[in-house]
Amino acid sequence: MNLDLRHIRRLMKHASRSAFFRKKFAGLKTGKNAEPADFWRKLPLTRLEEFVGEVAESHDPYGSRWCGPGTPLILFQLDYDTAPSLYLPLDRRALQSYAEALRRCWSLLGLQKGDVAAIFDYGTSPLSYLASSAFTPYLKRGAAEGLGCWTVCNDGIASMSQRAVEILKFVRPRLLFVRADCLEPLAVEIETRLRRLSRFTEALVVSDNECLLSRADQQRFERRLGLPIYRLLRVDVAMFLATECPECHLLHSWEDLYGVETVEDDHRDPGNLYLVITNWFARCCPTVRYLSQIRASLAGRGCPRSPGDLRIAA
Ligand SMILES: [Zn+2]
Repeated sequence: MNLDLRHIRRLMKHASRSAFFRKKFAGLKTGKNAEPADFWRKLPLTRLEEFVGEVAESHDPYGSRWCGPGTPLILFQLDYDTAPSLYLPLDRRALQSYAEALRRCWSLLGLQKGDVAAIFDYGTSPLSYLASSAFTPYLKRGAAEGLGCWTVCNDGIASMSQRAVEILKFVRPRLLFVRADCLEPLAVEIETRLRRLSRFTEALVVSDNECLLSRADQQRFERRLGLPIYRLLRVDVAMFLATECPECHLLHSWEDLYGVETVEDDHRDPGNLYLVITNWFARCCPTVRYLSQIRASLAGRGCPRSPGDLRIAA
């Protein structure tokens, strides 16, 4: 990441408007001559367990993270198996920037004006609620409006696979976005009811929250279904999206939306690097150096499809 001290101070000042980060940053001072990269590494990492602990302790559903004016515009229960549950509060600006990240994912995957994207996922997945202002009226421009696409959504529960196949058959979307745990039941349904899936769609995009389909499973499903499968990474607590590029097969991300780095985690398995995310746009609900579950390394820029994008190997 390209950071200067002014930038870091601004981020800390802003994040400290939330009680959660005020506590985390207590006592941290940027010295006048501090080396930005050294100081950045002193900023404590944030773990999922801390968010959960804060919700339990404070009885605040937002875990003392909300620092927007007034009350949030919209609230989503997050797709983590924690007790208590985590909630994501967003204001209009954060919702719009988050949708911009999805628009870039769609664009990188080749969706263009007039194309249809089908989604087989829950309504509380960002892949659904950021897709179109028809699904989320508070959203001015979803990914679909941003690109001039159409979208159709099917609820992300495995027993809805039959209906997902009907969407493929009758709508013939260019891409079908599938929740990872629906992939196997969908594949069974496709094998029973569709001959040659490639006649009905170009590719499947498989996504999960803080988890990626393994390369081995990806290849196994590609062989089984006879068409490309791309992986899309969600890290919902950090409002992060990155998608596998059809050209270089790395995950692409965007420096103006996210700071990404990798660190070793002594609490887990030393020697492995994990993806750490700072969100630049969600000022109402700050995320600074969130340590995800994703093992990853950073690759250089320079993909011919979109040369300026950050790239992540995971
Ligand atoms: Zn690429």
